[in-house]
This record gives sequence, C-alpha cells and structure tokens, in this order.
Amino acid sequence: MSAQTKKEAPPPPRRASSSSTETTPDEQTGVLHWADQAARVVLERSKDKEEVVVSSGITPSGTVHVGNFREVITVDLVARAIRDAGKQVRFIYSWDDYDPLRKVPKNLPKQDLLKTYLGKPISETPDTTGTYRSFAERNEKEFEQYLPLLGIQPQFIYQHERYTSCAYAPHIREALRARHAIRTILNAFRKEPLPQDWFPLSIFCEACKTNKTRVVNYDEEYAVTYTCDCGHTNTFDFRTTGICKLPWRVDWPMRWHAEGVDFEPGGKDHFTAGGSYDSASQIIRTVWSEEPPYGFMYEWIAIKGGGEFASSSGNVLTLHDLLAVYEPPIIRYLFAGTRPGAKFNISFDLDVIKIYEDFDRCERIYYGAQEAKNEKEAKNMKRIYELSCVNTPAKTLPFQPPFRHVTTVLQLYEGDIEKTTNHFQDSFKTDQDRERTRLRVQCAKNWLERHAPESMRFSVQNSPPPDVLASLTPAQKAALKRVAALVSTSSAEEEIHKGIYEIAKEENIPPRELFQKAYLCLIGKERGPRLASFLKLLGPERVQNIFSHLS
Ligand SMILES: [Zn+2]
Repeated sequence: MSAQTKKEAPPPPRRASSSSTETTPDEQTGVLHWADQAARVVLERSKDKEEVVVSSGITPSGTVHVGNFREVITVDLVARAIRDAGKQVRFIYSWDDYDPLRKVPKNLPKQDLLKTYLGKPISETPDTTGTYRSFAERNEKEFEQYLPLLGIQPQFIYQHERYTSCAYAPHIREALRARHAIRTILNAFRKEPLPQDWFPLSIFCEACKTNKTRVVNYDEEYAVTYTCDCGHTNTFDFRTTGICKLPWRVDWPMRWHAEGVDFEPGGKDHFTAGGSYDSASQIIRTVWSEEPPYGFMYEWIAIKGGGEFASSSGNVLTLHDLLAVYEPPIIRYLFAGTRPGAKFNISFDLDVIKIYEDFDRCERIYYGAQEAKNEKEAKNMKRIYELSCVNTPAKTLPFQPPFRHVTTVLQLYEGDIEKTTNHFQDSFKTDQDRERTRLRVQCAKNWLERHAPESMRFSVQNSPPPDVLASLTPAQKAALKRVAALVSTSSAEEEIHKGIYEIAKEENIPPRELFQKAYLCLIGKERGPRLASFLKLLGPERVQNIFSHLS
C-alpha cells in the first residue's frame, strides 16, 4: 500500500546516499538477492496454496509518482522471484478510487467546480481537462500506460467498481458485526478514542453524494440507516445499494482477506509502529481468523540533479520523466539493485552516465564478457541483471553504445537521432541492437536537453568564433593547422593523441593551451570530449573546414 493513501504528500526530495547494490546474504540459505529472500518467506507461509497472491495499491488522489512506483516494482520483483521458484503468482494492483476527494487538485483547471466534489468519491470527480472520464481515471491511466514498457502487468482492481457493485457485502457485514472488537483494536492506536456508537463504515449520501454521513441504525445483517449533514436520511441494503465503504484501517485487512493476499509491502507511514499495517494485522486475526500477509517497508526515493520537475503534474517525478532518461531495464536495475528498505537517489545529473556504465558492466558480467570482483559479486550481478530485463535476457550480449560517447556523437549530428543511431550500425548484430541503440540515443538526447550540466553540451562551429580567431598567436595557428593535417593522415585515435603532444612540443606551446585553443575553435568552449576521439569523429573534412579559417 502506497503513501498516497495518506493525506499528506511524501516528504520533499532530499539528498541521500547514492544508489547501492549491496545485499546482505541470507546466511542460512545462501540466497543473495532481497527479492529471492522475500519470495522464500512468502512461499513458506503459503505452502498449501496453488497460487500466491501479491498485492500493491494506491489512492489515485494525485499524480502517481516515482515514490509510488517503488511499491509496484518491489511487488513485481518479488512476484518474479516467486515465479522463478516455480509457483504461480497473481499480482493484483488495487486502485483505491472509491475514496473521497480530500483536497482540490491544484494542477487541474476549473478549481471552483472541483471544490464542489470535496467529500465525494474521486471516481466521480471529473477530470476537468476533459481527457478522462474522471479525476481518478486520469491519475490511473497516466501511470498504467507505462507499466508494460517495464514488463509489469498486474491485474488492476478498481475499488469503486468493487464497492458500487456490492462485491464486498459479506465482508462488510462481518466487519460491522465485529465493530466493538475493531474499535478496541483501533483505540489502542489513537489518542482520542472512537465513540461507543462508532461504525466502521463510510457512506456516500444518495442526495448530496458526500460522505458527511453518520450511521444511525444497523440491523446486524445488511440494512443500514444513515443521516447526512444535508438533511437526507435513508435505510439501504448494502447487498444491493453500493454507496458505502470501509474506512482505510478496516478496508485494508478486509481486502487481504477477500483476495487472499500473501505479500504486500508498504510505505514508511504504514509500517511504522502504530501504523496501519499493525492495526490491520490485528484486525484480520480478530475478525477473519487469518494471518496478515508478509510485508515490509520500502523507503522514499530522492531526486538528485536535473532541476525542478515542474510540469502540469506538479513538482513530482513521474515514470514518464524517468523513462525519458533511462532505458526500461536500467530503471528496473536501479530498484532491483537496491534493498527496498534503503533510501536512494534517482539521479539526473552526471551520475546518469555512471549509472549507464554500471548497468553495462552488470550486463557484461551476466554474459561472461567481464570478470566480477569475486564470485559473490558475480552471482549477485547475474541475478540483478535477470530481474532487470523487461523480458527474459537475450541469448548473447547486446551491443552497448557507451552513454557518454552517445552524447558526443549525438551533438556532432546536431541531435539527429537517426544519423546518430546509424553511426553505430557496423556494430549491430540483431534488430534488438538497433532498437537498444536508438532508445539510448533518444534518452541521451532528452538528458542533454533537460538535465545535463552545461559542461556536457556543445555545438560544433562552422568556423572558429571571431574572438577566438583574433586571440590566436601565429604559433598556435600553425600548431592547429598541423593538428588538422594530422587528422587527415592518421586513422588511429591513439596516433592522433600522441601527435597532438608532439606538435605542441615542436611548436613550443604547452599541451594544455593547444587543447584549449582547439576546443575553442571547434566548439567555442575551453573543454570538450576527449580531443583525439572527437577529432576522429568529426572526420578530416569537417576539421579541415573549420581550421581552414585560420589563415
Ligand atoms: Zn447528503
């Protein structure tokens, strides 16, 4: 169950320790990866079941962000580990969209209209942009659409459908009849005790549609009488009239019972002492004589670099933002490689390059193309890689265009994705190689445009900028012309690299100065990508053209 169930938003992004792929081996079993460890616990407690049920859920009362995604991916990774152990898994994803609207969403137009929906179900609150049927559906679909890209395909359950179709009637009856026991349990978690005549039921008034209602009578079966602040009063049968729901702390254990949930993690708010996991555990034991599912807490996500994520969705990081910069397997890798209880950063600064490099290394270790530090690391990396793949791993090592290099090539081609992709085509062995490269080029382009530090950006000049040209000494000009000639005669990068140093020495110019002037002529900046490989990428003709302006 994810944090948006709470009224408050999760804490603002903050700096945290960088992502870590450390795992603590389970000493008894030798199982390394946290998802496999969790799978073992789940399998042990559901030995007699044909199929294991894992669950995730959230109230779609706002833009679903990457912090919420951590829950979904955590459940997906454990589900995979259970399947890998040979057991069938049902992965349910509950949208708690029969909750009342508690706050007017700031990112939508027609605020006055939205205000009139406070206290009414979010499934009946309009999407005032006119795109979706409701505010809830807007938040749901904008998130759901990206999950298949990441290989995540849960069964979605829309709670407004369940509740309005009276699907939970028998369980609501059980909860209402156990109301005194439930009240005693909940009072231990509260400062202000619940009143004697409390009912674990929230009713949406049939006249004004809000939940400003109170139960005034219950026949101990299926008939409830309520009154509303608007003056309306009525008696209804909750087997045929779906206008009520259980409050969160009772709703959660009821659904564990109704769906037979074996595993559901939760955000910090639910898993702290006195949180709803504790009370829900007591309620399912008391009311339904069942054990609660296995669960654990996952930490919040912090954002590092990349500026503000201000968009129509507000200042939150969405899956869409993440997919713009990271290939789907790398997103899975970030979460698979970090224990759910550890905070970690999702980086949009220079760390993006490092993360791509780390992932590529993990991939090479999986295919035996690179040695790991030791056997333990090899085993761990291989498992992380398997869990990172959107589908099953390819048969052979895919082509890995280095991300940093891609950013350079892309800028040489002025951001042209096709030309940049084709630049690598001699290395493609499969269609997947081309697809991966194209995607990586697109991600690099998005990163350069939206998040990369200024030092990573450049554009190749047609001729040296006039002020640079004016500042060059005759010796510098001579040296640069020799560098251009060198690019025409040498094909090897290393040869060019050494040649530049020799030219600097012969022309009596400090190498650093020569490099600086070369960059200034080529890209109008004092620093740039590694010069020899950059000159080679530019090609003799383009280099000659630029340096021909020196005389
Ligand atoms: Zn009313």
